[in-house]
This record gives sequence, structure tokens and C-alpha cells, in this order.
Amino acid sequence: MEKILQVKDLQVAFKTFGGEVQAVRGVTFDLLKGETLAIVGESGCGKSVTSQAIMGLIPSPPGKIAGGEIIFKNRDLTSLPEKEWRNVRGADISMIFQDPMTALNPTLTVGEQIIEGIIQHEKIARTQAKAKAIDMLNLVGIPVPESRMKQYPHQFSGGMRQRIMIAMALICQPEILIADEPTTALDVTIQAQILELFRDIQNRTGVSIVLITHDLGVVAQVADRIAVMYAGKIVETGTRREIFYNPQHPYTRGLLQSVPRLDREDAELIPIAGSPPDLFAPPTGCPFTARCESAMEVCSRVYPIETKLSEQHQVHCWLQDQRARKLAVPVITIS
Ligand code: SF4
Ligand code: MG
Repeated sequence: MEKILQVKDLQVAFKTFGGEVQAVRGVTFDLLKGETLAIVGESGCGKSVTSQAIMGLIPSPPGKIAGGEIIFKNRDLTSLPEKEWRNVRGADISMIFQDPMTALNPTLTVGEQIIEGIIQHEKIARTQAKAKAIDMLNLVGIPVPESRMKQYPHQFSGGMRQRIMIAMALICQPEILIADEPTTALDVTIQAQILELFRDIQNRTGVSIVLITHDLGVVAQVADRIAVMYAGKIVETGTRREIFYNPQHPYTRGLLQSVPRLDREDAELIPIAGSPPDLFAPPTGCPFTARCESAMEVCSRVYPIETKLSEQHQVHCWLQDQRARKLAVPVITIS
């Protein structure tokens, strides 16, 4: 399948009073045309920062892209001047956020905001823009859009506001939609409806989606492929099937064990003990070493390189890598 976006060895750092935080530490993945790729991990793992980098939204300073490339249409977006970003953002790559209330302007009607968004990107008359806005609201399932266009954001429910955000994000027919925790603020029923809407829109428009979430339930519903992030790195990538039924990284396994299962009432939730490493001074070896029950001596010293388990399944863990034995320090016993 065609690669619509290639992220190669992306590194993002932030300067703070306490020193430099290495938020993203060499992330590599492809986004295929028409797929939904979920980037999963705990808060602070670098998943949101990765998505901000793809949107050209790393605030600089204090942030900076310290290395790597983001290739879109034969161009490296990490070196795109802000002037050119304006043509990419919204038109080619669009983003929706967790809380629609902060992204919508409370003082303008929903109709005015959508129409403004269209006119900013396209040279069309207001009446045409209005017709387009109505079509879009129809597409995202807002009933009687003509009259609802005249209402303000606070007059909509959380789920409806998220639909409006999706409409606004899709208005210029972007090729990539980045959704950062798009359903976290919603209750479970509405969440399911919004996820259904994503699938429906993808079927109709062919848009490629990067879904950023900590919620494996959401991932199970919509993702084609999954990238698991930990401490600024992608530790395992695979199809939804591979990650859910054949997880190989101890962290992925831990995440799956900490998810409630509807089919097994007795199933115990086992949270992963310990906490992620300090990204002010990230470890040189596997960042999961301190929390990993299978950790070996080599793990704390050397970062495991990628092991390919299948066409789409890759993992960074010494357990999967024959070379671990060669790198192991022999145990010397002194008699
Ligand atoms: Fe655990 Fe070692 Fe694998 Fe890291 S590389 S996940 S510490 S076994
Ligand atoms: Mg986040």
C-alpha cells in the first residue's frame, strides 16, 4: 500500500528550567493511505508530541525538532517554513483535539466558524461556503444543519461538538487526519458513535488517520495498525490482530493486562508496577528495564534494535533477539 507519510528517526526535545526533556527519541513509522494507525501509550510517552511535530505545532522555543525527518509528498516537513505550513495545515494534514470546547470559539456561531475555515483555504463565495458547511455537517451526522449553524458551541452536547470539530477538520479534504484523544472527554456511548463516524468517514473519503490514545478499547474498535510508545520510543508495531493476540514486548503485554475485559468478569486488572524513566536523563538501554520482569543484564546497557517478526510486526526487545546472548556480560564468580 502507498505510504502517505514517513516519519524517520524523529527526535523532539524541550528546554525547561530543569534541563532538556527528550520527549521523542528516534521515532520511525509509516502511515499508509486509507489506514488508521493508532499510537498508544501512557501519558508522557511522547505520542502527543509526535502528532504535534507532524502538524508543525512544536512550540519553538522551548521545543525543537532535534533530528529526523517527516516526509510528506516528497518534502521534509521538519524544515518547512511557517509560511508554507499554512498551506499544509488544515488543507493536507488536519487535526482534532480532545476537548472541542477549547478549540471552538465560544463567541461565534458554529456556522460562522465553519464558513470562515472554508473561506480561509478556498476562494469561493460565502453562499457556496455555506452550502459546503451544511454538506459537511450532514456528513458528520448533525441533524437539521441549516438551523444548527446559527447556534453557538455551548448549545451543543459534547458529542455534537466533537462532530463539529471533525467537520471542520475535514472541510478542506485533508489526506491525513490526526486525532489526539478524540473521545477521551466523552461518555462511552457517545465515544462509540464518534468512533463509528471515523470509520464511516474513512470509508467515504479515504482519509488516513493517526489516532493518538491511551485507551486500548478505542484502539480495538478502529485501528488497522498499532504502534506502542514508551519513554519517547516506539517499542512495538503490528496489525491490530498481532498486537492484541500476539503481543511480544513486555510493555505491550502489561498494557493489555491493565485493560478491563467485558468478556471476562473474573479477569483481574494488573497495572504495570513502577513508573517510566526520567526523560531529562533517559537510559541508554531499554527504557523498560526497571519495570520489566524479564529484564536481562544486557537490557540496561544496550538499546535493543528492531526485530522483524512478520511483514508488519516489529519489536524492540532483547527477548526476541538472538544477538542478546552475544552481548551478555559473562558472569564471573570469584571463589
Ligand atoms: Fe524487558 Fe529487556 Fe525486553 Fe526491555 S529489552 S522489554 S528490559 S526483556
Ligand atoms: Mg496527550
